[in-house]
Amino acid sequence: MTQPLSRRDFMKAGLGAASLVALGTRPGFVQKSFGKTETARKILILGFDGMDPRLTSRWIQEGKLPAFRRLMAQGGFRSLATSVPPQSPVAWSNFIAGTNPGGHGIFDFIHRDPKTYIPEFSASATEEATKTIRIGNTIFPIKGGKVRNLRRGKAFWQVLEEHDIPATIFKIPANYPPVATRQRTISGMGTPDILGTYGRFRYYTTEPKEIREDIGGGEVRQVYVIGDRIEAKLPGPVNTFKKDRPTAEIDFRVYLDPRNPVAKIVIQDHEFLLREKEWSGWKRIRFSLIPTQSVSGICMFYLKEIRPNFRLYVSPVNIDPGDAALPISTPKSYAEQLDKKFGPFFTKGLPADTSALDNDVLDEGEFLQQDGFVLEESRVMLDHELGRFDSGLLFYYISSTDQRQHMFWRLLDEKHPAYDAALAKSYGGVIEKTYMEADAILNQVMGRIDKNTLLLIMSDHGFNPYYRSFNLNTWLRQSGYLQLTNEFKQEDLDIGFPSTDWSRTKAYGIGLNGLYINQKGREANGIIDQGADTDNLVREIARKLEEFTDPKTGDRVVLRAYVAKDVYTGPYLSLAPDIVLGFNRGYRISFSSPLGRVPKAVLEDNLSKWSGDHMGAAEILPGILLANQAVKADSPALYDLTATIMDVFGIEQPKNMIGTSIFKE
Ligand SMILES: [Zn+2]
Repeated sequence: MTQPLSRRDFMKAGLGAASLVALGTRPGFVQKSFGKTETARKILILGFDGMDPRLTSRWIQEGKLPAFRRLMAQGGFRSLATSVPPQSPVAWSNFIAGTNPGGHGIFDFIHRDPKTYIPEFSASATEEATKTIRIGNTIFPIKGGKVRNLRRGKAFWQVLEEHDIPATIFKIPANYPPVATRQRTISGMGTPDILGTYGRFRYYTTEPKEIREDIGGGEVRQVYVIGDRIEAKLPGPVNTFKKDRPTAEIDFRVYLDPRNPVAKIVIQDHEFLLREKEWSGWKRIRFSLIPTQSVSGICMFYLKEIRPNFRLYVSPVNIDPGDAALPISTPKSYAEQLDKKFGPFFTKGLPADTSALDNDVLDEGEFLQQDGFVLEESRVMLDHELGRFDSGLLFYYISSTDQRQHMFWRLLDEKHPAYDAALAKSYGGVIEKTYMEADAILNQVMGRIDKNTLLLIMSDHGFNPYYRSFNLNTWLRQSGYLQLTNEFKQEDLDIGFPSTDWSRTKAYGIGLNGLYINQKGREANGIIDQGADTDNLVREIARKLEEFTDPKTGDRVVLRAYVAKDVYTGPYLSLAPDIVLGFNRGYRISFSSPLGRVPKAVLEDNLSKWSGDHMGAAEILPGILLANQAVKADSPALYDLTATIMDVFGIEQPKNMIGTSIFKE
């Protein structure tokens, strides 16, 4: 039994340094000579996270995406049915395992432990210290278990391996830590920073400001200029070797030029000059724990302002690919080889710092500079992988399409509550330009492939505006399904249902789309009998959710309340939420509700910069599919692509996979 964590506890907690070190090497990653046979056909899959079919076809028609248009002429353009719910870890897992979530066990970013009602990260678990993760713009506590990937079902590249077909899997989401294989793989979304979190920036300034904790992901530190010099500390992981478990820290100094807008930063063996508004590039640093143990990380500095107020941004400290403290690649040497060739590169799961933008620590232009580094790095490494792609399968992932749609939707859409006409003048075209950059990448790829290569372009889901936030637990309370012990503690900021009266609560929401019945024999304090009582309650709540309308707009908030057993099949169905909410266009779960909080209002305007999203009904959020060979399937789904891979390589489809090749009628 774990006590619900206080907000302060989970903000402070970090991944134990001991486990970082212990997990530095994993067994089972022996590289043998493998995959020497050349396959007759090759498959190249480019995954553009979140690329939306409506926007893609609009800009194809307007002539803005010429490479997409050419590919469409070769093989067609389809909407690609996404997962229920259309969250990235769920959707990519459908593709990886070739099943729906009932076959791989990932139903949401967040699951809960029914014995404690505490939210837990669904995709991987870590041993020892309690730690935090950041999902989108929310911080969640997680606990328990060695670092292990919680996705079940075999990954398609493991099946290929059994048939001696080589594969390179570059940053596919929901593969952290990477599952054991002799294939070349590197983890993407889900990979933590050196603290074990989803990424915490540091902001050093003489004029401190509040960071909105809900959308956390960062820390502000006040500094003082004394004689044109600043002394500061960069915090690292918790040092579990020491008794009081202090945070490992690195001292650094900044020397300000007395006349010019230039500063010199001295940290460990680095000494570099930065002009105002200049980025440093990656710096490798090392946190020492005890004389024989240290952890290496990489970070970037951005000197935002020298005078009148000093402002310095330091990126989340990424795992050093050249000396990874946690497993990020198979074989381990894959990340090291890339590091040798290209120097340090982004290893943290979603690399662009959306939280820094949401907190006004980076402005729109600065955020785009940083994400520009991400995209450029992706392009360069793609070129490298294309250069040696001579057999089997190459999967390559691009994150910028997703991240920029999340942050810039408000400037594309005048109806958005956070629309800003002045900013829209400069940044209203960011999403369109990003699609054009995707087109340039596709063009680069099309110029490099031979006639034996099947090219598939896919996205995991599409995009919608996020106008209004829904507090599911508040709705459940107002509808009489959730009861509080103390009405006055309703807005208590602690997570994990601190003032919920479980003896009178019938249902609760955890995660971004999940609703659970408080079932006897499953939940610690369950009150609803399993079987008919639960089934009836599920149908009743699902119906009421689908009927509920927003008093402000008259629109329905929940387009589809999916009953788990109607939409999932497979051995892990029992892990599913009882109801999965598919929101209507414009709606999304709030940032509070997924953690088990019960704010006052059921619905609120979304004023944050995180303004586009994809938590809606799967029917309204398909992704895209294009191929250089005629697609026969009318309405293909993510798991059909897995079946296609098996089909093209002539492998009998494993029993747990449920799809059909897109080239079959
Ligand atoms: Zn997304």
